[in-house]
Amino acid sequence: RFHSSSIPQMPPINKPSPGIYDIVVIGGGSGGLGAARRSAQYGAKAAIIEAQPKLGGTCVNVGCVPKKIMWHAADLAHHVNHSRYYELAQDVSESYTPHKPRFAWSDFKQKRDAYIHRLNGIYDRNVEKDGVEYHHGWGAINNHQGTSVSVKKDDGSSYEIPTKNVVIAVGGHPRIPYEIPGAHLGITSDGFFELEHQPRRVAVVGAGYIAVELAGVLNSLGSETSLLIRQDKVLRNFDSIIQDTVTSESQRQGINLVKHTNVKSIEKTSSGLLVHTDSSTNPLEVDCLLWAVGREPETDKAGAKVAGAQTDSKNNILVNKYQSVQLDENTYSKNVFALGDVQGKAELTPVALAAGRRLGNRLYGPAELKDDHLNYENIPSVIFSHPPAGSVGLSEDDARKQFGDSVKVYTSKFTSMYYSMFPQEEKEPSAFKLIVVGKEEKVVGLHLVGQGSDEMLQGFAVAIKMGATKKDFDNTVAIHPTAAEEVPISF
Ligand code: NDP
Repeated sequence: RFHSSSIPQMPPINKPSPGIYDIVVIGGGSGGLGAARRSAQYGAKAAIIEAQPKLGGTCVNVGCVPKKIMWHAADLAHHVNHSRYYELAQDVSESYTPHKPRFAWSDFKQKRDAYIHRLNGIYDRNVEKDGVEYHHGWGAINNHQGTSVSVKKDDGSSYEIPTKNVVIAVGGHPRIPYEIPGAHLGITSDGFFELEHQPRRVAVVGAGYIAVELAGVLNSLGSETSLLIRQDKVLRNFDSIIQDTVTSESQRQGINLVKHTNVKSIEKTSSGLLVHTDSSTNPLEVDCLLWAVGREPETDKAGAKVAGAQTDSKNNILVNKYQSVQLDENTYSKNVFALGDVQGKAELTPVALAAGRRLGNRLYGPAELKDDHLNYENIPSVIFSHPPAGSVGLSEDDARKQFGDSVKVYTSKFTSMYYSMFPQEEKEPSAFKLIVVGKEEKVVGLHLVGQGSDEMLQGFAVAIKMGATKKDFDNTVAIHPTAAEEVPISF
């Protein structure tokens, strides 16, 4: 077994050199690393400032990576349970019950932490290899021109570093609704990854990616899971086929979905937490309450406003297509940039990474990359629910708003062959929706729910990004038998 303590500590990379930097990046997450490393690869004198004692940001430490590891554990628990329908339980001794695996949460957490620790080491080495100088501390722009950044150390001391360009890539943090009495008794996704023991009874509050994913993991691994939502469906920012299918499937799989509910207060008792809501006079008793009600950008900590950056109503930094921060109605900074979650658009690791790399290309790359920037259209993303769901392009509602009557929708609902051996009530659904526009039937949206959707979407996203039509989909011979062959909808 792995134990985190047995993993050797990496030496800290901390070799700031004197002189003006070409580029200072505040935040060592996906976007910041992308910008700093790419700039340095082109020879720029680059620095990264990170407050946490490890690089990688949200995705690596408390986001996509440990979440996906937990999703795999949950997915395996489903498969172990499913194995009985493939008659895989016949030769085992009576004492062995493969259908009800016991998840050793604490042991698994140690292995997961050790894996993350190894990734942190790889990030350290990559930064060092590219010659990016690493400052550990809180970075903040400290003059209006954005040419000076202060680094505040944990011991309270600070120093300033001069730079020509600065990138704000400080990400965000999960929101806790402190206006609700007792809200501090709950944890967030950050706290989820610190849990040493599996909570027996959990309430997850929220209806977005994080709520659905973590409630799904907890439920699949055997926690008694309630999901408290304000409306009647989860994932309301997605196409209706995803909302409907994931909502009903979550319930079928045993999540106690409490609809039309707002948490009023939380109370600690000797046996757990009492969650008082406005939909019932009986409080819900749980061991753990997890807030998943959205994230907030770290705009203020990075000195964005000192540099004159404009923000929206949620404090996200406003930027143009080149990631330059907006200074007033028509002016964008030439040397202060923001990317990743702090600018509030498509809060996804590959988006931040791509935006960061393209900024590095544009600032320091060859002439043909002088206009390089990320196009934020048709970005695919997946919700790691059970089953997973994925989306690229416009939802049906958005397509109709944009294109009116020229929208046509092809829908396919089916049961994947994997479930052919299952009793009816145990079969997971698959549901696909293809949205096309105009006479040529250009594809403007694809929405998938069902086993394999997570791995299926990327290739279709390439086609859609290239401007594929329904005919192109139909003209591509299907791979049989797969779930993906259902996507073209007609042959
Ligand atoms: P989201 O913005 O996706 O969802 C938060 C949802 O919580 C809201 O849409 C809202 O839904 C609900 N909500 C808000 N306030 C309350 C409240 N007071 N009580 C109950 N429910 C409330 O935020 P997440 O934190 O889930 O995720 C943040 C971002 O992180 C995502 O937008 C995504 O970009 C990224 N992410 C991506 C993942 C992936 O790619 N797989 C995984 C996880 C995160 P409603 O209006 O219906 O009530």
